[in-house]
Amino acid sequence: MPRPIQATVHFAALRHNLQRCRAAAGAARVWAVVKANAYGHGIERVFGALRGADGFALLDLAEAERLRALDWRGPILLLEGCFEPRDLEVCSRLNLWHVVHCEEQIEWLSRHKTHTPHKVFLKMNSGMNRLGFRPAAFRAAWARLQALPQVDEVGLMTHFSDADGQRFGREGIAHQVEAFVAATADLPGERTLCNSAATLRHALRVRLGDEHAPALAADWVRAGIALYGSAPDAPAHDIGHWDLQPTMTLASRLIAIQDVPAGESIGYGSTFVAPQRMRVGIVACGYADGYPRHASLGQDHGAPVLVRGVRTRLVGRVSMDMLAVDLTPVEANGVPCQLGAEVVLWGRSAYGTVLPIDEVAQAAGTIAYELMCAVAPRVPITADEEAPHR
Ligand SMILES: *Cc1c(COP(=O)(O)O)cnc(C)c1O
Repeated sequence: MPRPIQATVHFAALRHNLQRCRAAAGAARVWAVVKANAYGHGIERVFGALRGADGFALLDLAEAERLRALDWRGPILLLEGCFEPRDLEVCSRLNLWHVVHCEEQIEWLSRHKTHTPHKVFLKMNSGMNRLGFRPAAFRAAWARLQALPQVDEVGLMTHFSDADGQRFGREGIAHQVEAFVAATADLPGERTLCNSAATLRHALRVRLGDEHAPALAADWVRAGIALYGSAPDAPAHDIGHWDLQPTMTLASRLIAIQDVPAGESIGYGSTFVAPQRMRVGIVACGYADGYPRHASLGQDHGAPVLVRGVRTRLVGRVSMDMLAVDLTPVEANGVPCQLGAEVVLWGRSAYGTVLPIDEVAQAAGTIAYELMCAVAPRVPITADEEAPHR
C-alpha cells in the first residue's frame, strides 16, 4: 500500500467559487487566475470546473501551452508579459494577450514580426512598486504602444497592494484607484484592476470617477485565491463570510498511536511535554509533503486538524514524514481512534466536517496561497467530481 497521504481537488466547489466571483464582479468578465499550476491544484484538474470563466490568466508560457492543449480557444493573459523578445513568437502562435509593464517590452514588440497584431494590457504601477509604469509615464507608454503596427488593442491594468485591508488607516485600495483613474481618465480601452480581495470587498461598491462611470470591477476582474476556497482577507473574514467552499483537501491516516505518560515529551527537540497522560496519534504527513513545519512550534502552539471529523491539534514538531496529534478531544467526543483513522490536514472530512485551509495557514504564520502551492510532488492528487456536501 502506498503511504496513505492524499490530496483531493473538489470540482463542484471550484464551480461554486467561480459563481461567487462572478456574482461579486457584476457585469465584468472574470479571468480565472491559474498561475502556479492553478495554485497547486493542477491546471488540467481545474480546467473542467473553471472553463465557464471568460478567460484564464497566468504567467508561464508552458502553462499557456497546456491550456491551449486542452483546446481552450478563449482569452489567455500573461500577467507578467514576455521575459525575452522571442516569447512574442509564442504569443503570436498561441494568440496570447500579454501585459506590458516596462520600456523593454515595448521595444521588443516594436521589432516583432507578426501578421496578427497583439492585444496587450498596459500596466500601471499605481503604488505597489513591483511592475508597471508610474502614473506620470503611463500616457507616453500608451501612445508608443498604440502607434505600433504590432499592437491591436491596448487595455489598461493595475494591481492592488492592500485590497485585503487598510493602508495607513485608509481603505487599502483608495490611493491606487485615485492614481489609476486620474492617469487614465481620457484613455480608451478595457480596464482591469481587481484581484480576489478587491472583487469580493470593493468591486461593486467603489466607483471609478463619477456616478456614471463603470464600477471598480471595470471590464475584467482577476480572481485567484477566492476560486480556490480561501478568504482573500483571512483572518478578518472566513470562507463562510464570503460563501466560498474548500477546493482542496489534504488527508492522511493514523499510522501509530502512543500512550504518553504525563511529563514525557513528543517528537524532535522535546518542544511539547504531555501535561497529563495523553493518547497521541502519529500521522503520515510531514514537511516533505508540503505541510508547514511552523504549524507546530511549542507547548501551546499547534495547528488545528480533524481526526475522524473531530477537531483537535498538533503536538510537538512536524518532522519530514510524520506529525503528531492529540487524540484526547476526539476520544472524549466518543469517537474511538485506531490505526487507519482519517486525518484531515485541511479541507473536507469524509465525516462532513470542514477545516478551512486559512486556519492552518494562520497557525503556521503564513497564507493559504503558500500552503496550496507547496503540496509536494510525492502527494498524489485526485479530482472528485461529486457535489460537495455543505
Ligand atoms: C496572482 C494575481 C492575481 C490574483 O490574485 P488573488 O489574490 O489570488 O486573487 C491578480 N492579478 C495579478 C496581477 C496577479 O499576479
